[in-house]
Amino acid sequence: MEFIGECSFFMMENTVKSLRMEQKKPFCAYLYDLPKLRNHVHQLTTSLPSVSRLFYAIKANSDETLLRTLAPIVHGFEVASLGEIEKVRAVDKDIPILFGGPGKTQDEIEGAIDHKVTLINVESVHELQLVNYIASQKGTTVDILLRVNLRSSVPNARLKMAGVPTQFGIDEVNIPIAILLAKSLLNITLRGFHFHAMSNNLDSKGHAEFVDRCFELSKTWEENFDFDIFYLNVGGGIGINYQDIENQFNWMDFMDRLNRVLAKHKDANWEVLFECGRYITSSCGYYAAEVLDIKQNHGEYFCVVRGGSHHLRLPAAWKQSHPFTIIPIEKWPYPFIRPKINEAVVTVAGELCTPNDILARDINVPSLKAGDILLFSYVGAYGWAISHHDFLSHPHPDYYYIEADTISGSGSKMEASNKSDRTPAAGVP
Ligand SMILES: *Cc1c(COP(=O)(O)O)cnc(C)c1O
Repeated sequence: MEFIGECSFFMMENTVKSLRMEQKKPFCAYLYDLPKLRNHVHQLTTSLPSVSRLFYAIKANSDETLLRTLAPIVHGFEVASLGEIEKVRAVDKDIPILFGGPGKTQDEIEGAIDHKVTLINVESVHELQLVNYIASQKGTTVDILLRVNLRSSVPNARLKMAGVPTQFGIDEVNIPIAILLAKSLLNITLRGFHFHAMSNNLDSKGHAEFVDRCFELSKTWEENFDFDIFYLNVGGGIGINYQDIENQFNWMDFMDRLNRVLAKHKDANWEVLFECGRYITSSCGYYAAEVLDIKQNHGEYFCVVRGGSHHLRLPAAWKQSHPFTIIPIEKWPYPFIRPKINEAVVTVAGELCTPNDILARDINVPSLKAGDILLFSYVGAYGWAISHHDFLSHPHPDYYYIEADTISGSGSKMEASNKSDRTPAAGVP
């Protein structure tokens, strides 16, 4: 594996420290390590079996710089709205697009056809009629996949879109009706099935069994209804372990198992599409928030940071603590005593006026001072993208995009890179 220009954690801390020194206001920023993103995706695409294609589900983070970084190294993008189609086309006019999501409007389907999406993942029998109708009005045909809402066999992930009653896809038991209808409609071509069923699955064995089940069902339908499948879209849903960051989804074990599943179904000869969001961008993103205050209320310590759930809603949404490290800052500008705790248990709160603005609860810290910076990791997916940015009208965070030898972004100084900081420390991979 290559690590070209990627920041180690130590280097990221030094980067934040030097950026902090250049500005007067309390520090609050998202930082994206672009070499790390490239290395990670390179590792995924080179380890996937040759029949597989890796798409990036942009709703996890549709930041333009990330899309530009990813466009040359993924097979395409998965989108769920016309807005997302336009974001993709703004960075790449030809890259393959998969268009999914429930409740597609006529405008969106027209836009998808005009923007030449590769496949539309159809979510209901009504939508099948609508796509066919719009395609016929335009005098064209559209390649589609039917999105299946499985009755079972979905791993026990954090969020389930299938295997339980939800608004997504077509009930497995109604797929035969949808296939017959699709075959009878003149302006759509059925190319296979779409099975996105979960989010944040950490179980590589369960994920491979799920792919196996997708093959089994699709083969039965192909045989029973006499048509040719080209694509099996097994969705995204590979997770990040936010509670134990040393213990992540075992990708190489998943590759071993996936190869065995593919060998078992080698007669099928289909392209297997993955459309991962979280697993692709989560690890390249960091959120740095300066500690503004530390206090004790009702016997418990709280630290309050510049920032909070309006920038990073994920921990509040999932009622969990988000992993972070402390970057100690020595400078203290005031002539009065600096709030400080040692060997204490602390809850990290944001600056919003709601008790729900919690980033991490009951965390043991060796030492924490006002003015230190908390560096949250694994925030590149479903961080800023899902947050309510303007609640309370606090300033937005700055953005820094880290390359091997430059940093660009919205912060006060852009050419902040200090080369000596970015030479790998001894023993750092
Ligand atoms: C959100 C979504 C994805 C990506 O899910 P992750 O859990 O981020 O991998 C893929 N496909 C569809 C249809 C989605 O809605």
